[in-house]
Amino acid sequence: MPPFLIIAIDGGAAAGKSTTARALSERFHFLHVDTGSYYRALTAEMLRAGLSPADLPAVEAALAALALGTRVESRRALMEVANRVVPDAELRSPAVNAHVSHFAALPSVRSALLAYQRDQAAVARRHGFAGLVMEGRDIGTIIFPDADFRFFLHADPAERARRRAAEGQQDSIAERDRLDSSRKAAPLACPIGAIDIDSTLLDLETVVETVAAPIAARLAA
Ligand code: C5P
Repeated sequence: MPPFLIIAIDGGAAAGKSTTARALSERFHFLHVDTGSYYRALTAEMLRAGLSPADLPAVEAALAALALGTRVESRRALMEVANRVVPDAELRSPAVNAHVSHFAALPSVRSALLAYQRDQAAVARRHGFAGLVMEGRDIGTIIFPDADFRFFLHADPAERARRRAAEGQQDSIAERDRLDSSRKAAPLACPIGAIDIDSTLLDLETVVETVAAPIAARLAA
């Protein structure tokens, strides 16, 4: 029986995390968890309720009332808020892009998602996946510091901006990175001991092969 593997992929915006995580989930039959989409879904809910990150008591009251669930679609885990999956267009809207890092910097928002994110390993096992590949900013540092593999992807800001524009998205990635790296709660940082990959000059296929190789070797051992 092969071991159930947990793979953590961290990095800044548009560093190639999602493409890599998706490829690993296909190749090894892992559940793919994009935790950025969770912070985006919470942000979309807060904005729908007209809340600002500066209004902490109201944000905390709204967090306490949230009923979170998980829907597994193909190999992806989607967060349900009150039985609703926030549509992708809303998750990637300019308003969410502009506000998500401000909500994500609040310790109460992060702790509302902590156990939920760790529980995704149980969701993956229940659905018969061979493991879990989780991408975000603090997966290898806070959520799964004991993950079987921890990767940190980075790339030049200009190259990342080019990738985001090629996706047709309006996104201030430099500003989000600045906020994500400088916050007190779970800042974006390369986890100690993680495999650090600079993808500036690599095509994403090469990044995927670099990340997949040690996982394939472990599974073959
Ligand atoms: O990955 P993505 O760019 O969609 O993430 C959106 C935002 O969610 C990030 O800029 C960051 O503020 C927040 N985030 C986080 N911790 C994670 C994943 C995302 O703070 N693990």
